[in-house]
Amino acid sequence: MKQKLYFLWLILVVFSAFAQESSRKWNNKKCAVVLTYDDALNVHLDNVVPSLDQYGFKGTFYVIASSPNIANRLDEWRAIAHNGHELGNHTLNHPCDGSLPGREWVNPEADLSRYSIERAIHEINMTNTFLKALDGKDERTFAYPCVDLTIGGKTFYDLVEKDFAGARGATPEYPIAKQVNLSNITGFVEVNSTAEQMIAEIEAAEKAESFVVFVFHGVGGEHPMNVDLKEHQKLLDYLKKREKDIWVATMLDVAKYIKKEQTK
Ligand SMILES: [Zn+2]
Repeated sequence: MKQKLYFLWLILVVFSAFAQESSRKWNNKKCAVVLTYDDALNVHLDNVVPSLDQYGFKGTFYVIASSPNIANRLDEWRAIAHNGHELGNHTLNHPCDGSLPGREWVNPEADLSRYSIERAIHEINMTNTFLKALDGKDERTFAYPCVDLTIGGKTFYDLVEKDFAGARGATPEYPIAKQVNLSNITGFVEVNSTAEQMIAEIEAAEKAESFVVFVFHGVGGEHPMNVDLKEHQKLLDYLKKREKDIWVATMLDVAKYIKKEQTK
């Protein structure tokens, strides 16, 4: 009887170890979280970076190369890149498709629907050259301004795909690593979100053996798409507490990991 029980116990131990192993598909953790911040805002340097550094997390900052916030604080952007944060390519002028409904606000000078594909590619390449001059790095990711993937119905990212580890979009889905489209990586746009809402998204990802890419703009102000600084801090607090199970990394590191998983 005793022997039988021992045998049963052994099966249980082996099985639970196996189950745990199979659910650790993200760099040996249960899921991954990517913290991305768009549009080169001052609050990223003033609010976000000090918070991330406090917890030892690395974020991805999708910068607009022509932004005065870049020109005015060049040394600080360079310093955060040297500290392990990623400077992602969010193009030179952030063109958005002004021909779409509700896009009356688009400046004709930065209207993607008036761009040729050649011009879009040229400006993306120029931004890569600028970012390399700034941080010395050869690898980075791209983020579509306004999540506009096409010009006149034609995609343009395929022409620069070889220069990036991946391109972040903003479709809030929970794919497993093998099903991620690296040319349009999922993203959860956060506007006025509470920490509780964002944590629920992480827990859903964990269940689905997936990951969450948070898309932030303002954090503590400076942009109409804003998240309260306190809620952002609570989110980081949660991520720190769950460090054993959640992999927090840059879009670059997670995109490279996904690529490796897909070519296995
Ligand atoms: Zn943007």
